[in-house]
Amino acid sequence: MVQTRRATQTAGQHHDSLSSSERLLPSRPTEHALRSHTRSRKPPKRNGQEPAPDLQDSGTRPKKRRRTATEDNDNLTESIPTRVTSPWKIGAHVSAAGGVENTVLNAARIGANAFALFVKSQRRWSSPPLTEENIISFKARMKEFGYSPGHVLVHGSYLINLGNPDNEKREKSYQCFLDDIQRCEQLGLQLYNFHPGSTVGHTTKEHSIALIGECINRAHQATSSIIIVVENMAGAGNVIGSEFSELRAIIDHVQNKDRIGICLDTCHLYAAVR
Ligand SMILES: [Zn+2]
Repeated sequence: MVQTRRATQTAGQHHDSLSSSERLLPSRPTEHALRSHTRSRKPPKRNGQEPAPDLQDSGTRPKKRRRTATEDNDNLTESIPTRVTSPWKIGAHVSAAGGVENTVLNAARIGANAFALFVKSQRRWSSPPLTEENIISFKARMKEFGYSPGHVLVHGSYLINLGNPDNEKREKSYQCFLDDIQRCEQLGLQLYNFHPGSTVGHTTKEHSIALIGECINRAHQATSSIIIVVENMAGAGNVIGSEFSELRAIIDHVQNKDRIGICLDTCHLYAAVR
């Protein structure tokens, strides 16, 4: 799913420790995990009939607090499929509906041994910060279901365009980009993938590429460990990243080569060379 220059190395470096941790971890969740995911029994359905007298609304019953999606997910009765233990990691981009912590569970539900996610709404400039509960629960589930941060790829907001020559608009994009990366660090993740950007028809590709490189360097300095992964694009025209030479040119502008990688989206690649 993900192929990064640096990430490949990272995965390789983690391979031994990961295999041993995977050996220790049951491929199914632990008994504790299954117990804590057992749904409390609902009252029996009475098809088409009035509810039983004790369930009828007397008019004085206090309003129930709405359960959060996280709480609902903590009470699931479902068996999580067995995950294949393999150096090949296969997964999907999973939903973060109800809280970023639900992504881990959604990946486990489909037997994925790697997954991708958004750490905030991908179509809005600002989103509420992650809560303590989101962070603690995400990290606990990563452990509980045996996922390594090196096999989780965060996808950046679709709004970001670091190649925009308009200073104000680029700064807005940079702040959104930095916020994404800071969220990754809060969640203990390692890989952040984004679409490089576009000239928007107002400058040369070389200039846009230099601006993208500059933003990556700033983000590296503002954060401590995240590897920024540049995704190849399908688009032609003003879009940067549909040619390998453009991806390479971005990397050339990046000072810390240990914290840059490439994600090859095979669908984009296919579309780009047709
Ligand atoms: Zn993408």
